[in-house]
Amino acid sequence: VMKTTQSIRQDFLDFFRERGHTIVPSSTLVPGNDPTLLFTNSGMVQFKNVFLGSEKPGYVRAADVQRCLRAGGKHNDLDQVGYTARHHTFFEMLGNWSFGDYFKRDAILWAWELLTRVWGLAPERLLVTVYHTDDEAYGIWHDEVGVPADRIVRIGDNKGAPYASDNFWQMADTGPCGPCTEIFYDHGPAIPGGPPGSPDEDGDRYIEIWNLVFMQFDRQPDGTLLPLPAPCVDTGMGLERLAAVLQNVHSNYEIDLFQRLIRHAAALTGTEDLANGSLRVIADHIRACAFLIADGVLPSNEGRGYVLRRIIRRALRHGWMLGVRGAFFHRMLEPLVEEMGAAYPELVAGRETIEAALAAEEARFAETLDSGMKVFEDVAARASGGVIAGEDVFRLYDTYGFPVDLTADIARERGLRVDMPGFEAAMQAQRARARAASQFAGAVTLPAELASTLAPTVFDGYDAHTGEGRVLAI
Ligand code: ATP
Ligand code: MG
Ligand code: MG
Ligand code: MG
Repeated sequence: VMKTTQSIRQDFLDFFRERGHTIVPSSTLVPGNDPTLLFTNSGMVQFKNVFLGSEKPGYVRAADVQRCLRAGGKHNDLDQVGYTARHHTFFEMLGNWSFGDYFKRDAILWAWELLTRVWGLAPERLLVTVYHTDDEAYGIWHDEVGVPADRIVRIGDNKGAPYASDNFWQMADTGPCGPCTEIFYDHGPAIPGGPPGSPDEDGDRYIEIWNLVFMQFDRQPDGTLLPLPAPCVDTGMGLERLAAVLQNVHSNYEIDLFQRLIRHAAALTGTEDLANGSLRVIADHIRACAFLIADGVLPSNEGRGYVLRRIIRRALRHGWMLGVRGAFFHRMLEPLVEEMGAAYPELVAGRETIEAALAAEEARFAETLDSGMKVFEDVAARASGGVIAGEDVFRLYDTYGFPVDLTADIARERGLRVDMPGFEAAMQAQRARARAASQFAGAVTLPAELASTLAPTVFDGYDAHTGEGRVLAI
């Protein structure tokens, strides 16, 4: 029998509950404890103060399913969506945690037990990486678990950048940090002329499924690493990637949950080919958008709200590519609630707000999407040297509401690039004009990141194209 995504969530929590872990709820996508972070991008975000020692949670072992968004800020996978088999903007991260309790040995043995015994994965399909100096983790994998040496890869630091390695994790320039060990699944060699979504040459054969972080040092301002008095474990496993493995498909988009969303997207857009990449993007983006709105973000021209607006507009443009000329995207909410409402009651509770906000943004962009696409065709036709001029990118942005990443994404599909410095210059010029025209004496412009920490995200009017800056009267 096929393991459903829903039952995998449950298996994970049951496994760690039986091993003394307290099950904690997912925190929201908008981090409540960290104004410098745009979105919750991993499970550790809600435990940051626990790792730093300023918060004591009343348990030393925890497990959870954390909703994550990687579409802005430090982690941004938005441009991967539709191009790789394994990246989403919104995804769910399964995690188990030790706060000064168990360490490498238990974390590794349990991960292996869950993957190979509970879920029955063939050990010969799994590979692991360790940080190059972490002989302790290497020893556990090799001597206790029995992973042969040719399937354990030591990963060093990136050249010239100490500790800037995928296998050495740090929260910040100073503070808790430590080596990682990552578990990869081998989906098998590329199948020449194989079905869409079969492993290709682009690094999609070996897919990282689980990352185990061992926080054992406290980095000092001078760079030295002191041992932490109580080492911690932080693990993260992508639910959708795991579901792909357990459902014996290569791409995340072929799992049960995504297939149902894709079928709805196909019906709403009148698309017959279920493998059409635009359907995948739409299915991905409805999750990000719906959960962002459920967590209190609304489309706007700055900060988090602007990330949401950009994702919605990207989805609408994909609908447009499939020939849709009316509203459709907000109707993806209903199938999404059906898929994920049981695990996330906030989605059910926020239903009306989410649908209304999506529909409003859809109506707003509908006014300019069609003409903007025509303008795009014109400017693409006269792009010289494969580069769309900054002035044109700015016009699409300013007059047609095309966020620059949307224009860049359309350009990429045509093998074109956008002139970013030229766009920035046009933007600066417009800002200078706006400043000169401002009637408020002493008006200041704040960078978007800062502005969004001061003001709650609000539903700005479409016309308020103030770019990244927000003009505040003081
Ligand atoms: P990758 O190298 O494949 O981009 P990562 O190393 O950036 O992954 P981590 O930060 O280690 O990912 O996150 C822990 C786990 O979360 C990963 O092992 C993976 O299973 C999952 N994951 C990470 N990014 C995504 C994404 N964009 N979409 C879906 N799952 C993801
Ligand atoms: Mg990544
Ligand atoms: Mg990685
Ligand atoms: Mg990783």
